[in-house]
Amino acid sequence: MTPQEVVSFAKENGALMVDFKFMDFVGTWQHISVPITEFSEDTFEEGQGFDGSSIRGWQPIHASDMILLPDPDTAKMDPFVAVPTLSLICNVFDPITKEDYTRDPRNIARKAEAYLKSTGIGEIAFFGPEAEFFIFDEVRYDSSSNQSFYMVDSVEGAWNSGREEFPNLGYKPRHKEGYFPLSPTDSQNDLRNEMVMELQKVGIRVECQHHEVATGGQAEIDMRFSSLVDMADQLQWFKYVIKNVAYRNSKTVTFMPKPLYGDNGSGMHCHQSIWKNGQNLFAGDKYGGLSQMALWYIGGIIKHAKALCAITNPTTNSYKRLVPGFEAPVNMAYSSRNRSASIRIPMLSTNPKAKRIEYRTPDPSCNGYLAFAAMLMAGLDGIENKIDPGQPLDKDIYGLSPEELKDIPSAPGTLEDALNALRDDHEFLLKGDVFTPDVIEKWIEYKMEAEVNPVRMRPVPLEFALYYDI
Ligand code: GLN
Ligand code: MG
Ligand code: MG
Ligand code: MG
Repeated sequence: MTPQEVVSFAKENGALMVDFKFMDFVGTWQHISVPITEFSEDTFEEGQGFDGSSIRGWQPIHASDMILLPDPDTAKMDPFVAVPTLSLICNVFDPITKEDYTRDPRNIARKAEAYLKSTGIGEIAFFGPEAEFFIFDEVRYDSSSNQSFYMVDSVEGAWNSGREEFPNLGYKPRHKEGYFPLSPTDSQNDLRNEMVMELQKVGIRVECQHHEVATGGQAEIDMRFSSLVDMADQLQWFKYVIKNVAYRNSKTVTFMPKPLYGDNGSGMHCHQSIWKNGQNLFAGDKYGGLSQMALWYIGGIIKHAKALCAITNPTTNSYKRLVPGFEAPVNMAYSSRNRSASIRIPMLSTNPKAKRIEYRTPDPSCNGYLAFAAMLMAGLDGIENKIDPGQPLDKDIYGLSPEELKDIPSAPGTLEDALNALRDDHEFLLKGDVFTPDVIEKWIEYKMEAEVNPVRMRPVPLEFALYYDI
């Protein structure tokens, strides 16, 4: 849409407010709204000012004036605001440097797309994330102990946090058996369908929905793939719609990767391919129907996998998912058959247009703009340097002996390990100024100070079970 068309679109839809949405550094959508009387075509030039000082990881207070520049192609009506509201996703502009703000994740994603084009390797990078999530009734916080909390899902008695299950499961799926019987065992089909209807209303094409493997409440709704920035925009809408549909049904949704000990976590497998002149450059006659380019792309992902984890798996909770036995990949290898490998080559279609790689390590706590950009940069580094991904691993990795596993790199064990890996290995991200040294530094500093250290310093409930009577 042109700015003029957006103004007409707002009028046709009776918009009375305009909502400017933007991505913060860490990965949560933020917004500011203005009455429609304050909005015109000029807003696309002049932008909307806001105070960037209180946004996590952004400007210090003395340099806090920032500008939001709305992207006219993102105009939609926001179905979750009572007053008719036009919604626009924005890029952040720094009025001091007169440039796109370098810590704005959407700007980083836009630069990754531009870098791809500048290399001549391809024109479009497609991403298809499968963001799994859990639906719970609520999270209860036990203030008496000031630390223990537990979740209650739709069937009475689904305790977590070390408490015992009640013996009668009713129709509640057992651990790891949620995939995927019908109702009444699947008690959330109606809710997921309602989510699909709302996603379609905001223009998101949904391919399917289903219950996931974990006990009552784990869900997956798959969106059709799209180009990098557009897909990251859609992922934000996805989370927003899903949380709001849950909320109006008195439920909550979490995208944290491992809410339940002893059951599957939530991944965000990312399907990826590079295209040029309408051709899928990942289709070829090599292993798994891939091209040489796709194999090098895999080589880049595997080479930089540990550092990538700091961005694709950016929470302390992420590393509670990356453990053996829960369908989450632990070893960095690729295979056309093996879902225990971190990279799978789906063989469901023989159409070259459908050829892609599926990177299974990422989880939905990541910032889509940063994660897609970082994965593309790792893959491009593989292509530019012809990085050999080694032999495919077609055995079940979970069943391999330590001897057989010793040459296969494994995922970092903690967020701190991943951040250290990123500190040592981030040149590939700096190409084309996509990520700047400041972004990498700030990311590591923020994650250490705001997340790793505070989590490390707190006693957790299990420590009471282990040590209280010592
Ligand atoms: N939940 C699994 C993960 O953590 C994936 C399960 C699946 O989609 N097969 O990645
Ligand atoms: Mg899936
Ligand atoms: Mg899944
Ligand atoms: Mg998958």
